[in-house]
Amino acid sequence: MSAGMGLRGDRILRYVNAFCPRCHDRELSQVERLSGYLAERDGLVWLERGCREHGLISTLYDEDPEILAYLEEWTAPTKQHVPDISGNFDPVPAAYLRGLPELQTQHTCILLEDIAEACNLRCPTCFADSSPDLAGIVPVEDVLANVDQRLSRENGKLDVLMLSGGEPTLHPELDRLLAELAERPPAS
Ligand code: SF4
Ligand SMILES: [Zn+2]
Repeated sequence: MSAGMGLRGDRILRYVNAFCPRCHDRELSQVERLSGYLAERDGLVWLERGCREHGLISTLYDEDPEILAYLEEWTAPTKQHVPDISGNFDPVPAAYLRGLPELQTQHTCILLEDIAEACNLRCPTCFADSSPDLAGIVPVEDVLANVDQRLSRENGKLDVLMLSGGEPTLHPELDRLLAELAERPPAS
């Protein structure tokens, strides 16, 4: 009687595309995108991919599968640039579907504007759900309107403005947007 194959000893969480770190000694365009997976083994999560040059590459990805599962529920809250509506006393959290509500008490210390849905990479960890398959771009005027509303609620000053996405440099009017933003008053 045959004993059959033993169990693998790990559990594949999902299949991903990833790069080989040792192949990054060349032009990025020459670095192959590899097939791989995230696997749980001995209570740890490993990112494993097969490189034709360097063989199996195994990288510790997370020290706790439960924490990873929890973190992966978190995605960017919204990519919509919705203006604040005066008189918005809707109950929280629904109130945030219409900009910042009247009862928003927190100071905006870092304003993060997602300006492009697309990204030229497909990181397995992407929390923004971005990919090269997406094409959404936020019009410059919508970004500026949003920044101007924040400025008016922050006495004309923002400590930090971050542009993100996706990959913000893929925005076709990035030059114009940066020029317009640079016209806004600096933080002091
Ligand atoms: S947005 Fe960031 S995390 Fe997501 S695919 Fe692009 S580079 Fe990777
Ligand atoms: Zn390699």
